[in-house]
Amino acid sequence: MKLFTSTEFNSLQDLFLNQIQDLYDAEQRITTALPKMIDAAQSSDLKQAFQSHLAETQQHVTRLEKIFSQLGADTKRQTCLAMKGIIDEGEEMVNAKGSPEVKDAALIAAAQRVEHYEMAGYGTARNFALRLGRQDVANTLQQTLSEEKAADEKLTRIAESQVNVQAAAR
Ligand code: FE
Ligand code: ZN
Ligand code: FE
Repeated sequence: MKLFTSTEFNSLQDLFLNQIQDLYDAEQRITTALPKMIDAAQSSDLKQAFQSHLAETQQHVTRLEKIFSQLGADTKRQTCLAMKGIIDEGEEMVNAKGSPEVKDAALIAAAQRVEHYEMAGYGTARNFALRLGRQDVANTLQQTLSEEKAADEKLTRIAESQVNVQAAAR
């Protein structure tokens, strides 16, 4: 398997489109992974947090499709190897045996890695869009970025107020 195909960047526009294609692949992988996280979670707050972020993630996919069309580009996925790896780690947590309380903490640990990776991707893409004079596209990316941040913060609250406390009590 060839890990690195040669990519050519002749303009910031090329690089920007590549970043959008990567995010588009990542978001679709997340929509497939989250239902397994929902099933695996024991805490009802955690289940609900994953559930509502699944609905948001479906919006993130739709927003990226809107961006492809705003850019006059084809809707295309570029395999996000990093998200594949982060999700593999998440699956390990989903399939883990043992105490459900500790498992919830493990699910949060995996999910926050997903959110932080997305925040990095959307922050970079938003700045590229601004630099390219696409305030419209930047605004759309900022909307998603804000939801990723809020999802991450919600997970921190659930971990600190509840899940980590119960995991430590095992
Ligand atoms: Fe997302
Ligand atoms: Zn990637
Ligand atoms: Fe997310």
